[in-house]
Amino acid sequence: MSVQVVAAKMAEVELKDVPSGKDLPAGSPMTPTSEGKCLGRNDPHEAGSSAAASPTAEPSKAGEGSLGLLNTNPSKMPQASALKRTDPQLNGGEAFVNRDGTVAEAPRMKKIQFADQKQEFTKRPSKIGRRSLSRSISQSSTDSYSSAASYTDSSDDETSPRDKQQKNSKGNGDFCIKNIKQADFGRREIEIAEQEMPALMALRKRAQGEKPLAGAKVVGCTHITAQTAVLMETLSALGAQCRWAACNIYSTQNEVAAALAEGGFSVFAWKGESEDDFWWCIDRCVNVEGWQPNMILDDGGDLTHWIYKKYPNMFKKIKGIVEESVTGVHRLYQLSKAGKLCVPAMNVNDSVTKQKFDNLYCCRESILDGLKRTTDVMFGGKQVVVCGYGEVGKGCCAALKAMGSIVYVTEIDPICALQACMDGFRLVKLNEVIRQVDIVITCTGNKNVVVREYLDRMKNGCIVCNMGHSNTEIDVASLRTPELTWERVRSQVDHVIWPDGKRIVLLAEGRLLNLSCSTVPTFVLSITATTQALALIELYNAPEGRYKQDVYLLPKKMDEYVASLHLPTFDAHLTELSDEQAKYLGLNKNGPFKPNYYRY
Ligand code: NAD
Repeated sequence: MSVQVVAAKMAEVELKDVPSGKDLPAGSPMTPTSEGKCLGRNDPHEAGSSAAASPTAEPSKAGEGSLGLLNTNPSKMPQASALKRTDPQLNGGEAFVNRDGTVAEAPRMKKIQFADQKQEFTKRPSKIGRRSLSRSISQSSTDSYSSAASYTDSSDDETSPRDKQQKNSKGNGDFCIKNIKQADFGRREIEIAEQEMPALMALRKRAQGEKPLAGAKVVGCTHITAQTAVLMETLSALGAQCRWAACNIYSTQNEVAAALAEGGFSVFAWKGESEDDFWWCIDRCVNVEGWQPNMILDDGGDLTHWIYKKYPNMFKKIKGIVEESVTGVHRLYQLSKAGKLCVPAMNVNDSVTKQKFDNLYCCRESILDGLKRTTDVMFGGKQVVVCGYGEVGKGCCAALKAMGSIVYVTEIDPICALQACMDGFRLVKLNEVIRQVDIVITCTGNKNVVVREYLDRMKNGCIVCNMGHSNTEIDVASLRTPELTWERVRSQVDHVIWPDGKRIVLLAEGRLLNLSCSTVPTFVLSITATTQALALIELYNAPEGRYKQDVYLLPKKMDEYVASLHLPTFDAHLTELSDEQAKYLGLNKNGPFKPNYYRY
């Protein structure tokens, strides 16, 4: 059978699978909104999909979820075009500019991985013992991105938050943070983030009287930043109770944690936790009298792991897990494969609305930011080679081309290579251009892409950096030899000098440039946070049996909804299908508009 015939048959199947849309059962928590546009829901198993069996199972072939709030009609959406744009730099990064204009170097982002599970956790370790619990820390495991810098480092106050008794203005002390007095400042940070997170704000308005998360008890473990605060306050507005810990020991914005605690949230997190603090905070979130979580929102899988290890009985009440990161999702699939996953889980990481926006658009903006902040380089006329033309590479190339740089691309995959050619980039091998380029950027997710041989041949002043996940793409270790001199010239900027005086400019020691040296736009985080909120709503409200003990992708309908909620920011006007057109394409007028195999 020819490829065309197979493709045609697939298309036929997909169109047949598209349901006309069933209404929600009356009395469902997701009953239609006042706008009256309730979307149908589909049982994944009824839909005849192999959803439950497949690790990337989508619950509904038609991709419909159980969210009564869904309505993709932009004319019915709150018009957010009046929202002010804010300076994304205000949201911080690993190296960040203080309010007084000085550049502060934040500690390296270290993402904690699971313990080797042999370690013992002491609930109340002695002060000396606090740092004694060693866990493996992966420097490269930073697969979720956060604009996480705290402007109020409080380095003057060395007292551990665990040794402080703090209460908010209402006398509530069920939290552990650095300093409750920073709450007002944190509130302003949250308000700034709200302006760039229109979809969450719209969800709050839309829910109005309805509380799709009424009764939900969400325990969360994510970066605690202004953007997360907007998410938490949205979940709360939708009816959920939340207890939260940080998924990263350095990324907590202390003032934001203070604002959350002042607002009544039980937050256990501060910037610069020890490893023992990290687990202690997670434990304080779950191990509490009279409160048991029924939903998990995790970023990295540490919280999920903790509950599995310490409180497996809690899973009797837990309705589902929502996981954001590559690492956490990987662990969920492993659990599922081993038959140990005991509740349904949503893989947010692989949602179109995360991957296509986080990787492509986030990098398109932050590559320039990272390069500028570290080097003040002018891009016009510069020769740049970008290694890898995936989502990240495409974003970097587009930004640099727009700035007037001459961009070369290297690729191993002929399809991505052809895309690069069609987009107007010269496809080369690295050794063909390495002598002449001014900037080298890796974004392959691979290792040893830029090896010592290439570093030796670079011209004087060449800037070398990495946008990929881990610090393996540039062979930085090969530069630590006696004949080369390292000179730290700025935060995250090293000059590596050869005996003949040639120097290259190495950024962030080969770690992720944007995560290390710039910020991530709030708007991108808004898209991911909205996806997380909808995943929680979907899992929490799904009728018994819709989701089995497996890992699912968010129904496509919800991905579309996340996107639609962000459109009003741009005063964008979405075209509606006519009845005739919908019939012709075999689509429901309200979506989903694409088959699951569509690549965007
Ligand atoms: P991708 O798989 O879409 O793209 C990577 C590309 O690199 C592929 O096309 C692959 O063929 C190519 N490649 C692999 N080895 C190569 C080599 N030796 N030489 C040239 N090309 C090679 O992945 P992506 O979404 O673009 O992500 C790339 C990396 O960036 C991953 O490590 C990802 O985790 C990370 N990431 C970073 C950010 C960020 O904010 N910096 C955001 C998302 C993802």
